[in-house]
Amino acid sequence: MADPQLFPWFLGPYGENDDFLEKLMVGFFRDHVYWRRNLHPEDPPAIPTAAVHRADFMAFESRLRRELHQLSAGLKRSVPFHSQRYLGHMVSDLLIPGLSAYMLALPYNQNNVSEEAAPVTLDLEIEVGLQLARMVGYAADPAHLPCAFGHLTSGGSVANYQGLRLALAIKAFPVALIAAGVPWVELPASLNEAFDLAPGASIALYQRYLAWLAALPHEQAARWRRRVEAERVERLGLHEFFSAHPELSVPVVLAPATAHYSWSKAVKLLGLGRSRLLTVPERDMRLDAAAMRGLLEHLRASRQSVLACVGVLGSTEFGTIDPIDEMAALRDEYASDGFGFALHVDAAWGGYVASLFRDEAGRLRSCEAVAREFEHFPEERVYHAFAALSAADSITIDPHKLGHMPYGAGAFVARDHRALGLLSEDAAYVFHDAVRGDDDPAESYRQRMRGLGRYVIEGSKPGAMAAAVCLTHRTLPLNHAHFGRIIASTIRSTEMFRRSFDAFARRMNACVTACLPFTPDCNLVCMAFNPAGNMRLDAANALVDRLYGALSVGAETQGRRCAYYASRTTLSVETLGAEAFAALLARLGLVAQPLEEAEETGLVVLRHTLMNPFLLDEENGIDYIEGYFAHLSELIRTLTAGS
Ligand SMILES: *Cc1c(COP(=O)(O)O)cnc(C)c1O
Repeated sequence: MADPQLFPWFLGPYGENDDFLEKLMVGFFRDHVYWRRNLHPEDPPAIPTAAVHRADFMAFESRLRRELHQLSAGLKRSVPFHSQRYLGHMVSDLLIPGLSAYMLALPYNQNNVSEEAAPVTLDLEIEVGLQLARMVGYAADPAHLPCAFGHLTSGGSVANYQGLRLALAIKAFPVALIAAGVPWVELPASLNEAFDLAPGASIALYQRYLAWLAALPHEQAARWRRRVEAERVERLGLHEFFSAHPELSVPVVLAPATAHYSWSKAVKLLGLGRSRLLTVPERDMRLDAAAMRGLLEHLRASRQSVLACVGVLGSTEFGTIDPIDEMAALRDEYASDGFGFALHVDAAWGGYVASLFRDEAGRLRSCEAVAREFEHFPEERVYHAFAALSAADSITIDPHKLGHMPYGAGAFVARDHRALGLLSEDAAYVFHDAVRGDDDPAESYRQRMRGLGRYVIEGSKPGAMAAAVCLTHRTLPLNHAHFGRIIASTIRSTEMFRRSFDAFARRMNACVTACLPFTPDCNLVCMAFNPAGNMRLDAANALVDRLYGALSVGAETQGRRCAYYASRTTLSVETLGAEAFAALLARLGLVAQPLEEAEETGLVVLRHTLMNPFLLDEENGIDYIEGYFAHLSELIRTLTAGS
């Protein structure tokens, strides 16, 4: 099952490709030194060549070595994410292209905050934005409008926050135009109408505004610009903005219960407050579109505006995929009814799975073509969710998760770069954007993106990370024939895991009832257990807690080596729905369990992320998935014996 094409892509569980990576590292480190020496070869060495013989030099070196040895020894207690025995969280081995490009670029220490600080790596970051945009199906040719944009962030949490920030900037801008008294006929008739415009309509107004300013005499344009700026929510703050317009409601954000906790952080940061994050009910771990419609209906009737609705493409705890297609249809339906809001897809986990759905020409593959390689994948609703990604207004994707990149690499992608100016930290964008015009759209796109620091949340940004992500996408293009092969291997592992699970559950029947609490959408599988004969939830949860204890390294067991590693999560009535939750308890034989009590504790399950591409080692005849189930059987027998 291990795909031989993947052999050179990773350092490998055994460090198999050590020579390969070492040669690259040493070669390009030397190359960096040559660059330093050849910048001005006439400058002699500033650190004397004899300095290494000084006593304090040698003393320093030995002190440093001592510390490094300790660090290196300490790091051996790290969680071995690279191992085929690691089936826990959303992390695995690193891709050699990313790792080598990152280390190569590190000593150059470029800062992607601006063009002056990063003439080379900033362009690589702009390219990453376009690469990811193409993978999700956005129009991504800077020579033609509309064109998407994207940039890296420190992680998915910051990308999600950027999504909300952009949605608010877009939503509130038309209100500022009206409040400033901009004299056009095509403005919405009321502030309410302006605030509830669809994002696309609001971006169009912004473009109209820029063109209008550009046509005015300079003085007059500057005056209007100041008036409009003075009315923007970014200038006033939420409190003053909404005090000035009592007819508007402070908007809410809708997200399913499975949404990552970064959404809670985001609404707090934006000043909306936690109470403005509304939970859309779920059915069977996925957002329930019918319930979303009901909620929207209620909100519209009570004149409560919606800032954005969040769909999760691969939930953090369960890997489940929301019906993005149905959510996009609802967004469009309500927008055409004058109740606009943004659709943001949080694909921090599942984003790279989209590579499997693209052919080499960048077209969406048919469901049949994708399904040919697999037993179950993709379920039709999963296919439709991926096919609808391009309908989202913005998307979060984490290269440091399924992108197999080092930590510190999240990404934000949005459909229309013309909204970017609304995020700008200074007002210069207005003249910048308007004056340059559209004579060379590709060049003006690049110019604008080169001022990246003005639009993003972070300031200084590692150019080395942009190099790592871009080089990875260049060597492994984001389609099914290249990067998608990694994703395909994770899905095959999941299907193998399900088969092995069936056999395991039958085998262990006398001692434990085991089941998959929900069908995996992709490459994350949870498992529920109940000791045979037990009817109480607390005893079932206690068994899983003890299993987890044996399958993980906690603070108190640092340095211990586990045979296998898994993670743990809790299923709640909220995510599963009351009916499905009760059915699950019944399936496990937890029939003496009062449901109200179960609602409080939830059902603790083991959670497995199957992203290591080398789970089946045909060369040596080892199947790590079978090995895991054998180990699990033994643990369960030991833990349930005598109880
Ligand atoms: C991991 C994750 C995040 C947060 O990303 P970080 O990179 O950890 O900040 C957000 N949403 C989802 C769905 C995730 O899986």
